[in-house]
Amino acid sequence: HSGLVIRIGLTGGIGAGKSTVAQTFIAHGAYHIDADKIAREVVARGTPGLAQLVEAFGEDVLDADGGLDRPALAAKAFVSDDSRKLLNSITHPLIGARTQELTDAAPDDAIVLHDVPLLVEGRMAPFYHLVVMVHTDEDVRLRRLVELRGMDADDARQRIAAQATDEQRHAVADVWLDNSGTPDDLAAAALAVWEERLVPFRDNVAARRAVEPSLDDTADDPESSKLGARLVNRLWALVGGGAQAVAHTATSSAADHPTRPIPELTVTVADLTAADALAEPLAAGGFPPVESDDPQVRLHGSADPGRGALVRVRPAD
Ligand code: ADP
Repeated sequence: HSGLVIRIGLTGGIGAGKSTVAQTFIAHGAYHIDADKIAREVVARGTPGLAQLVEAFGEDVLDADGGLDRPALAAKAFVSDDSRKLLNSITHPLIGARTQELTDAAPDDAIVLHDVPLLVEGRMAPFYHLVVMVHTDEDVRLRRLVELRGMDADDARQRIAAQATDEQRHAVADVWLDNSGTPDDLAAAALAVWEERLVPFRDNVAARRAVEPSLDDTADDPESSKLGARLVNRLWALVGGGAQAVAHTATSSAADHPTRPIPELTVTVADLTAADALAEPLAAGGFPPVESDDPQVRLHGSADPGRGALVRVRPAD
């Protein structure tokens, strides 16, 4: 039934304020999938995942109780690219399978909140209906991590440096929540996103209904030039092998919102049968079919109330 839910990716740098945003969404009914928790569970004591780690890296990665000794694993796995890849080749499929299992168990019409600290680094953004980014300037995060979470300053600095840059975050963010105010300010901004964007988005996807964008601009990503590329990647994730090409072909603007860009995209397919086969995956992914006046083109709009889109699915000439 995965066509009946929407998946929201929540991310941000360490200490940015993801927990506060997640709490607000969960309090209002989000179905929470916690990536950090899953990453721990799949290699917990007694799991096949942990047995695979032992086989790959040796008994030294176990602690006295037979659980995973994380520093010991890190010492072995983070020494070379090959060893890091070996670690990922064990954990990533297990994490992916468990995430899918939990997503499949979500009730119909759920708003699935996938809380993923390394969403940008893992290039996972295209696989969500919407990516919510929590942003706090680096110096403020550093101070909060040290003063409020008791982290060692050098450790915090290193972790921040190892993560994605603000520019990389901008490129994939559909919603940019700034956490330079108080926690209450952030919770209020998150609630507005929930009520004005996520809930109507979910309702529109469930009803296969396209909308004209109706939000004001404040909650949106300020770098709208990245929007086209973002949607190309998202469309690829939805149409996969069913298309020959996906391109951002133009950007127009909404009649009632002259400042709001509406990206136009073209999905090239073999023939109209292939175009029709994409109707449902596109609708489930947030691009419901709308009426087309060209019989050789299938047209899709956007179910996201925060941004319009026009997607033409057409056979290659
Ligand atoms: P993340 O989950 O993104 O790593 P957290 O939500 O845990 O970050 O926030 C990091 C720390 O900063 C926590 O101790 C949190 O309570 C605190 N914090 C978050 N937002 C604010 C804020 N606006 N003002 C002050 N402290 C904050």
